[in-house]
Amino acid sequence: MSVEELNKLKGLLAEPQKIVITTHRGPDGDAMGSSLGLYNYLIEKGHQVQVITPNDYPSFLHWMKGNDQVIQFTQEPEAAERITLEADVIFCLDFNTLSRIDTFAPVVEQAKAFKVLIDHHQQPDEFDFTLSDTSACSTAQLIYDFLDMFGDTEAIDQDIAECLYAGIMTDTGNFRFPSVTAKTHEIVSFLIKQGARHNLVYDWVHDNNTVSKLQLLGYCLNDKLEVLPEYGAAIISLTAVELARFNYKKGDTEGVVNYALSIEGISVAAFFVERDGMVKISFRSKGDFSVNQLARDHFNGGGHINAAGGAYGTKVEEAIEKFKEVLPDYQSLLPINK
Ligand code: 5GP
Ligand code: MN
Repeated sequence: MSVEELNKLKGLLAEPQKIVITTHRGPDGDAMGSSLGLYNYLIEKGHQVQVITPNDYPSFLHWMKGNDQVIQFTQEPEAAERITLEADVIFCLDFNTLSRIDTFAPVVEQAKAFKVLIDHHQQPDEFDFTLSDTSACSTAQLIYDFLDMFGDTEAIDQDIAECLYAGIMTDTGNFRFPSVTAKTHEIVSFLIKQGARHNLVYDWVHDNNTVSKLQLLGYCLNDKLEVLPEYGAAIISLTAVELARFNYKKGDTEGVVNYALSIEGISVAAFFVERDGMVKISFRSKGDFSVNQLARDHFNGGGHINAAGGAYGTKVEEAIEKFKEVLPDYQSLLPINK
């Protein structure tokens, strides 16, 4: 981002504007925390703001202020298209390239608005204004930086602080990933000073499991965990039939992949799930093995070095077979061989 770009955006936001905020498909805590944190700030500044998600997201994120104003492109495509084409500024948060917003992408592409990217994924595209930092633990942290560039962090109230806290907390696995820095804790400290109730945010996000969600996790660990000791890898998979058996709701499989990664001696984990007619894959790693690279090479995906995702075919067996087929190509890069 250049000084000119920043000045252009500062000039635009000095007057009330029509603004759209969007985020990646299958929004997570960072996607919604960043979007609604920024939404509440911009509303406070007198702008007309609409958050548009490509599709739906888990109910454990519905507590955020402004959630009731969010529209989903898949549910209200005409309204979303009209608002987007009329927007003066579009904020694209927590994704690096328009294909991450699926069928909403052509609408954003066509829009004449000034387009802003704020993101921490690898290989970002260039927008009219790009704030990208792949070392940042979360986009929510970058929203704080963004407000800091405007000299306006004091405008962060309790609602904004709790949205941003949720984004940072979820994208850092509750402050434990290597991406967490002293700066992250300084920002979090500031958010708490501004009123963020960290214990409640944790509770709203993590301590509202349904019994069937926990039973699904139990089933994954008991029946669906496969360890590949020669690669220091572990996989878990679920078919559409299995999801239905456990009364699957959006978000119920979030975090399952981390159990595979937590096994002693395991530094690569993959979770395969048949959802929306395709196999979605979550990859996680420890150390310098890049699952972003693996996801980009073979699974039409991407993400970060230690957390990435992708998709492959329609049946988990085929996707698992592909994973096992390509894993030997990465033999020398795997942490187990280092
Ligand atoms: P998760 O496994 O939690 O869905 O995603 C982990 C990370 O990978 C997130 O940062 C997410 O944005 C990214 N990611 C997940 N799925 C995809 C995908 O299909 N394509 C790309 N480019 N990134 C993905
Ligand atoms: Mn993120």
